[in-house]
Amino acid sequence: MRAYVHVPFCRQKCGYCKFALTPFVREAQVSRYFAALFAEVSAFADAEGDVGKVETLYFGGGTPSAVGVARIGTVIRQFSDRFGMAEDAEITVEANPEDLTPEFCRALLETGVTRLSVGVQSLDDAVLATVGRKDAKTTMAGLKSAFDAGFANVNADLILGLPQEKPKGTLSAMERLHAEFPLTHTSAYLLEEGSYPKNWSGTHADTESVREEFLACRDFLIRKGFVHYEVSNFAKPGHESRHNRGYWERRDVRAFGLSAASLWKGERFENAASFAGYYR
Ligand code: SF4
Repeated sequence: MRAYVHVPFCRQKCGYCKFALTPFVREAQVSRYFAALFAEVSAFADAEGDVGKVETLYFGGGTPSAVGVARIGTVIRQFSDRFGMAEDAEITVEANPEDLTPEFCRALLETGVTRLSVGVQSLDDAVLATVGRKDAKTTMAGLKSAFDAGFANVNADLILGLPQEKPKGTLSAMERLHAEFPLTHTSAYLLEEGSYPKNWSGTHADTESVREEFLACRDFLIRKGFVHYEVSNFAKPGHESRHNRGYWERRDVRAFGLSAASLWKGERFENAASFAGYYR
C-alpha cells in the first residue's frame, strides 16, 4: 500500500502558505492529534484487513520535522506492525532546515526514514525574512547535518517567483546547493498567483522572467544528469519519488490525518479540514 500522513503543525506560518495547518507547535495539541491519527490508522487496519505491505510512506505537512523524531518513529512502527513494511519501502519525511540538527538527523535515520525532503525555497536572506523563514546559513547547516548523518536520498525544494528574489536568484541557489551537497532530487515550484504575503506592497515577480529562469534551472539540472520526470520535479535516475509518482500513475493511496485526501479502491475522499471535525 501507499500511505500518506499529514502533520498539520509548523513553527511559523510562511507568508505564501495556503496549506491546512496550525502555525505553532503546542505539545498538548500535537499529542491529541497523534492519538487521533493512531486511532484512524488502527480503525483502517481493522476494517480493511490485508492491504499489502507498505511500499511508500510519506510524512507531509505542515512541517513533520517540527513534531520530533519520537512521534515519527512511533507512526512508522505502527504501520510496520499493522501492515508490514516492504523491504525496499520508501519512507519520506518533509523537513524544515532549522530542525535538522546532527542529533535529529541521526535519530531520524534510525527510525527507518529513507528519504528527506528539505524546504529550502531560497538562499537569499532578504527573501527568506520577507516570507518568515530562517536564513540561508541555517539551511546549509541543516543540509550538512543530514548528509553527515548518512542520508543518501535528499530532495531540496525551491520556489521561483518569491517576493524580493533577484533575477537568477533561484538558479544561483540551485547551483550553490548542488556544488556543496550530493542532492539526488530537486523540486522547482512556481509560486502561485495570489500567494504573496498579505502585507506585501512591493513589486511582483515578472511571469516571463520566472518562466525563463525555470527553463535555465531545468537546463542546469539536466546537465547535472537529472531527469525532469514530473512538472516541478527532477531526480537522478533511480531517485524519482516513488510515492509522488504514484499520484501521476493514479495508484491507490490511503492518506491519514487532517484534510488528507485519499484515492482508495477507485474512490476519492478527503478527511475533515478542521481539528474539531477530524477528531469527530
Ligand atoms: S513550513 Fe511549509 S507548511 Fe509550514 S507554513 Fe511554511 S510553507 Fe506552509
